[in-house]
Amino acid sequence: MRTGRALVGGRWRETAERFAVTDPATGETVAEVAECGGEVAVEAVDAASAALPGWRSMPAHERATIMREAAGLLRERAEAIGAVMTAEQGKPLAEAAGEVVAGADHLLWSAEETRRVYGETIPSTGADTRMWLLPEPVGVVAAITPWNFPVSMITRKLGPALAAGCTVVLKPSELTPMSAVAVAECLTEAGFPPGVFNLVTTARPGGFAKAVMADSRVRKVSFTGSTAVGRELIRQSADDVKRLSVELGGHAPVLVFPDADVAAAAAGVARSKFMNAGQACTSPNRIYVHESVADEFVGELVKLAEAVTVGNGAEPGVTMGPLIDDRAVAKVRRHVEDALAHGARPATTREEGSGRFCPPVVLTGVTDDMLVCREETFGPVAPVLTFGGDADEEVVARANATPYGLAAYLWTRDLTRVVRVCEELQFGIVSVNGAPLAPPQGPFGGIKGSGYGREGGHHGVEDFVEYKYVSVGLGR
Ligand code: NAD
Repeated sequence: MRTGRALVGGRWRETAERFAVTDPATGETVAEVAECGGEVAVEAVDAASAALPGWRSMPAHERATIMREAAGLLRERAEAIGAVMTAEQGKPLAEAAGEVVAGADHLLWSAEETRRVYGETIPSTGADTRMWLLPEPVGVVAAITPWNFPVSMITRKLGPALAAGCTVVLKPSELTPMSAVAVAECLTEAGFPPGVFNLVTTARPGGFAKAVMADSRVRKVSFTGSTAVGRELIRQSADDVKRLSVELGGHAPVLVFPDADVAAAAAGVARSKFMNAGQACTSPNRIYVHESVADEFVGELVKLAEAVTVGNGAEPGVTMGPLIDDRAVAKVRRHVEDALAHGARPATTREEGSGRFCPPVVLTGVTDDMLVCREETFGPVAPVLTFGGDADEEVVARANATPYGLAAYLWTRDLTRVVRVCEELQFGIVSVNGAPLAPPQGPFGGIKGSGYGREGGHHGVEDFVEYKYVSVGLGR
């Protein structure tokens, strides 16, 4: 059994009360973690405020060195931290270690970007005036992260915030706090000054949100999680007019056109659908396949779905772990049952699975009005819908008919179609022919109900920067 502590002002904090963390594969308690009330959140904001002047004025090269060191430690410990992640989140060890490496890459990329937070000189109106734009850190940032990518969701916020010169109070998901503790250990050892990064663990997220929202020293809240909680935070942020980034839920369409490489498309869909047991905001939720290639596509996808080995992610050979909790399993079942009751058919033949283990399901005969096409499933269910004819507009309109707007996928070898369809899709990110969605240099984020703000790329850093416009009269 592990013990997780909070980190406030560079000191590891015990608390009288703790909360339990369970392994979703076995139901066993794997850790007990400090339950920090709102008062610890306020202490963490005290520490982050105290550390802000020193961190923002430290030369960018020096800040970059510390961040690079932290990224190096994360990468070095990828397997050990991956094992911690598997124990509390369930994903297979290789996937978990891969996520830690990706998380380290995000931190490293931000470390490099630290040295490129540039201002501007704007041509002024008169000969005796000058206009400058000075980049300044937003200030103290509160970051709230989900359980599905317990390390990379942290470093994607932390990296750009620290690069911009902000200090951070992080509240990770109560389901996966030990991964956050492991990140905090790397940061501490890398030599971050006390208070630059603070970790507040709690299973009462509402209390944390209340404390940071009421504290005017917190100038930005960066949130990744469900649309319901995101909406609530947007409301709460109004009183103090805080800056907010909200990376929320998604309902990603996939468009497979008749000229696509069908086998590659099926392999790409299987990769993005079955990764993390379908528990990703970018997971394909509606797979629109042209009727002329639908049989071939479904045949390939079913082969890949049936080759997935479901089990305890800590065991060798397992390629898909359990779902996070019983509620997640119930939601998957509800979506599949609704689809079957309304005329969909299972193309996969496996048994339903027991406990939290849900083998992949491919459904055919799916229509846009089914629950699975309207709500985020967050599980390994691949609903296949078909479209016909030559008019791309119709299928693009179906793809856009969702309140969400995070990611969309497109498979075609026709360049004109790539350009036209990409321009028409109402999503923050479009992947064409399986190209990756979330490398550190790409500005990742949604539109519509999927939120606003970007993580990654220089846009991600700019989300933590205020540009102060200075207009200078030279005098005589
Ligand atoms: P969630 O909204 O339940 O929780 C996310 C975080 O918010 C956790 O840290 C949780 O403790 C905290 N939280 C819960 N209630 C809160 C409250 N009242 N006030 C403040 N914080 C609160 O989401 P989840 O189940 O952890 O994550 C899954 C969701 O996240 C899915 O909808 C998924 O699509 C989304 N997600 C989005 C992205 C993206 O980049 N757009 C990435 C990953 C996950």
